[in-house]
Amino acid sequence: MPPGGRMGGPMGGQYLTEEEKKNQPKVTPELLKRVFSYLKPYTKQLILVLICIIVSSFFSLLPSILTGKILDEGLLKKDFKALVFYIALSLAVTLIASLIGVAETYINTWIAQHITFDMRNQMYSHLQMMSQKFFTSNNQGDIITRMTSDIDGVKAVVTNTFSSILSNSITLIIAMIAMFQKNWILALVGIVIVPIFTVPTRKAGKQRWKLTNESQQVNDEVNGILNETLSVSGQLLVKLFGKEKYEYDRYEKANRKMIGLNIKESMAGRWFRVVLTTFTSVGPMLIYLAGGILMMKYDSDLTIGDITVLVSLLGRMYMPVNSLLNIQVEWIRSMALFKRIFDYFDIPVDIKNADDAVKPETVTGDVVFEHVEFSYDESKKILKDINFTLKAGSSIAIVGPSGSGKSTIVNLIPRLYDVDAGSVTFDGIDVRKLDLTFLRNQVGVVSQETYLFNGTIRENLLYAKPDATEDEMVDALKKANIWDFVEKQEKGLDTEVGNRGLKLSGGEKQRISIARIILKDPTIFIFDEATSALDSISEKKIQDAIDPIIKSKTSILIAHRLSTILAADEILVVKDGTIAERGTHKELLGREGVYRELYETQFSKALMEEDTVSELEKYIWGVQPGDEPHEDE
Ligand code: ADP
Repeated sequence: MPPGGRMGGPMGGQYLTEEEKKNQPKVTPELLKRVFSYLKPYTKQLILVLICIIVSSFFSLLPSILTGKILDEGLLKKDFKALVFYIALSLAVTLIASLIGVAETYINTWIAQHITFDMRNQMYSHLQMMSQKFFTSNNQGDIITRMTSDIDGVKAVVTNTFSSILSNSITLIIAMIAMFQKNWILALVGIVIVPIFTVPTRKAGKQRWKLTNESQQVNDEVNGILNETLSVSGQLLVKLFGKEKYEYDRYEKANRKMIGLNIKESMAGRWFRVVLTTFTSVGPMLIYLAGGILMMKYDSDLTIGDITVLVSLLGRMYMPVNSLLNIQVEWIRSMALFKRIFDYFDIPVDIKNADDAVKPETVTGDVVFEHVEFSYDESKKILKDINFTLKAGSSIAIVGPSGSGKSTIVNLIPRLYDVDAGSVTFDGIDVRKLDLTFLRNQVGVVSQETYLFNGTIRENLLYAKPDATEDEMVDALKKANIWDFVEKQEKGLDTEVGNRGLKLSGGEKQRISIARIILKDPTIFIFDEATSALDSISEKKIQDAIDPIIKSKTSILIAHRLSTILAADEILVVKDGTIAERGTHKELLGREGVYRELYETQFSKALMEEDTVSELEKYIWGVQPGDEPHEDE
């Protein structure tokens, strides 16, 4: 049983700590069963490997046994024919054992590759089922490490650890049987020192185990730093804040910690091996001595050949014993690896299709929030008793201070998160009862953080509608106010965007993502601060693209720009996770509440600065050029 200790440490991020506490790293029958369940599909190949291992172990031991014949039958009897025969036989079996070894390696590698292939696919599809919560609370570096190096580790476990355990055990058993057959007294004398090694091995194993976990944690830390600081936005931040030195120091510190741990890890058990090596030479001497005593003092019929065979076989035992002792550590390490992977598999899929999920034939698009409560974690309630109705064909603007819960509200509609209490319904059906893919097809979100995949504009558009025609794409781009730009590009729709291609501005990306949503043509459009963080010209272009959608489609917009808000049928003012006020702009302005405050601090100021707002708009909303917003109080 492996020594206790925490598994994995912080490498799973905050999310896993509870699981880690529950899952102390014990090699339970369940764990083994689970590990072997991955081998099961390859039973036939495994049997083949096993046969290969048995045959090659036997054949590789045969020359040792044949040494006796070479001595007794050939050299001592001066029989040249017998000598040549046994020498040739020895060489032949050695060659056969090596050839079988080649086949074994091939089958082994094949099995390992297939197991990791299965595991990777399973892990990827599992990760895709994880809710947004998982991705916001786990470090991307950790997730990638699970997918890549941990699963790669499994490959090594199958090709090295498992097969080494098998072949060493089999070699050991065959060698022991052969020795006892020759002479049980000498066999006992030789073998008796072997168990003495197992005691310090356990200690060495324990130390290695601790170090392995520690170095894995530091490794994750280093990967985390690399992922954070060597990304495009990470580097931008580092550069703009002049944090190069700070980040270097942080990296150097973690890197240095790793050196120390790696050295310690390599050295763990090294002293013990020194003792082992010394003992290795004691064994043969004991056999010669005991053999001599038996032959000289007790008139035993032992031959020189027999003693040589015993010494040779004992010599063949140390390596497997040595490997098996090291394997104990490897084994524990492998189990830790599997455990870590299984821990990931065991993270429950918290947002999934209900067993009785429905997929309505026709949709209208009414969305109703009823007494919705929500929190990301127990410590802080984010939404409290949210109630509102979005009628099909109408639009709602959500405004409120930053951090008040606006994005959280809209995230509940496509079930990026599930409510804690109350309900969100779509066409009268609780979203938790709707088929997830169906639901998400009904909702199109354009957020402030637009994400375009590395690839062409065309590929990005087809992501939303794989069968879109050229005309449809051009039309969507026109509606999104970006066609002029795309048309000007040498390759047009086939222009590469993203890290490897054309660098787009925030506004351009935003408009392409709007085109993508137009192509998707969902029942409900959600614009989450789509125009914030942009210059006013970009804003205007986006505004022009969004306006017709807001006026004609069921939509929700989170906005900071007055003219966007004005286009909506109703305005919800969110403050501290509750709807503080609701109504039209005029009604709300008259109320002297949160909205008016927001209006005075944000909207009208923005309005005054916008040369893109029509005079008519300014007139309607009672703002005259040059007016200070608060002057009318
Ligand atoms: P808004 O859109 O009004 O700016 P959000 O809905 O984004 O506000 O956030 C509301 C609150 O929830 C904030 O206090 C924010 O820190 C918190 N929050 C947002 N996303 C997460 C998350 N993934 N995990 C934990 N807390 C979050």
